Amino acid sequence: MPTNVEMEKIVSLCRRRGFVFPSSEIYGGLSSCWDYGPLGVELKRNVKEAWWKAMVQNRDDMVGLDTSILMHPQVWAASGHLDGFSDPLVECKSCHLRWRSDDLESDKCPSCGGELTESRQFNLMFKTFMGSTEEEANEVYLRPETAQGMFVNFQNVLQTTRKKLPFGIAQIGKSFRNEITTGNFIFRSREFEQMEVEYFVKPGTDENWFNYWLEERYNWYLNLGIKKDSIRLRKHAEKELAHYAKACSDIDYLFPMGWAELEGVANRGDFDLVQHAKHSGKTLNYLNKETKEHIVPNIIEPSAGVDRSVLAFLCNAYDEEPDKGDTRVLLHLHPSIAPYKIAILPLSKKENLATFAKDIYTNLRKHWMVNYDDTQSIGRRYRRQDETGTPLCVTVDFQSLEDNKATIRDRDTMRQIRIPIDELKTTLQTKLEGEDLFVLPPGGQIWKEG
Ligand code: ATP
Repeated sequence: MPTNVEMEKIVSLCRRRGFVFPSSEIYGGLSSCWDYGPLGVELKRNVKEAWWKAMVQNRDDMVGLDTSILMHPQVWAASGHLDGFSDPLVECKSCHLRWRSDDLESDKCPSCGGELTESRQFNLMFKTFMGSTEEEANEVYLRPETAQGMFVNFQNVLQTTRKKLPFGIAQIGKSFRNEITTGNFIFRSREFEQMEVEYFVKPGTDENWFNYWLEERYNWYLNLGIKKDSIRLRKHAEKELAHYAKACSDIDYLFPMGWAELEGVANRGDFDLVQHAKHSGKTLNYLNKETKEHIVPNIIEPSAGVDRSVLAFLCNAYDEEPDKGDTRVLLHLHPSIAPYKIAILPLSKKENLATFAKDIYTNLRKHWMVNYDDTQSIGRRYRRQDETGTPLCVTVDFQSLEDNKATIRDRDTMRQIRIPIDELKTTLQTKLEGEDLFVLPPGGQIWKEG
């Protein structure tokens, strides 16, 4: 049951308008690595910002962290990644392509039909060397998840913030996995970004907190405009659970290739703190000052992918409408994640109007990402903004020079209002915050485009 948008359309829009480019494209690209272009970087920043606001800024019980990608190799022994983080792999003896053996339907190479080697475990962590000599003692790994940085800093955070249970640590950062099967654009790549929370709770309250976080995270996507019939919760069966997990549910999105994981919410029990205490020899517990009791908190982990969220928001927003024999492509992105919030479009390039428009532009861009476009017809310019999801356009014309008014045009309804320039900033702000644009300020007028 695929969604109504095909992946090719998303990939093509992203390439055409500068959301996402293949990495090192002039050298033919690098498999499953992607670069975010001028619009993509804004969208991605906004997604991360929306997450940070919801997870850290608007909560009393959360603090942020930014830990390093390279960590002590013992971290990965303690976490289980050195032993357990691997996929069964086979190689084709003729074309040398590698495949995950649990993905294969036959014992022949899916690409050339060649004979396959015996299956062997392949660790997904990228290995590199620290310092000047490439020897085993200097081996380090690029982190495959941001989570471990938060576990190993548990005591540091506790001591410096004096947080009481339950409390959480949030982190956004790059992770690396030498995935065997990649693909579906930015859905699965080898270098990606995660937004993870480690939420520390009293043992015995973990099931309630697990359910709380599942609902909280599900609602976060809905609040940013994800359609209800494109998102679902999927509980992991017992045999699917990772070695550390007491329970896990995925938040799935209906991507063009079908339902797939957007975020995982796991009840990790006390596994991580117990493991790191054992391997580091340090005490990683929590002193309940009232009862004088030392406890090892349980951890609930909502772990989301930035790139997968960006892809889901793009697929969710994509729309096409017939437009006088042509097609109007538009992105109904939620205003808080749209790359540009506003575009300033002067109806002419004539100097007096350009100066007037630039003035508005300079004032507004102190508050938002604002685009200025004075090339081609106004219709073409509106379409360009629609295609990149700009919620509001502001046009000024020669009349504006006389009556000091500007027209605001809404992406989704194509309705327009004309209001005094003095009201512009507050009206734009009201609309971007989700209020109805068509409550007119004093001296305003309304009509619909076309
Ligand atoms: P999958 O089963 O799809 O490989 P996973 O269960 O291994 O994912 P987790 O380890 O739970 O993923 O990672 C948490 C989140 O990080 C995922 O929900 C996803 O959004 C993101 N993520 C994981 N691996 C990748 C990847 N290779 N590329 C992009 N995002 C990823």
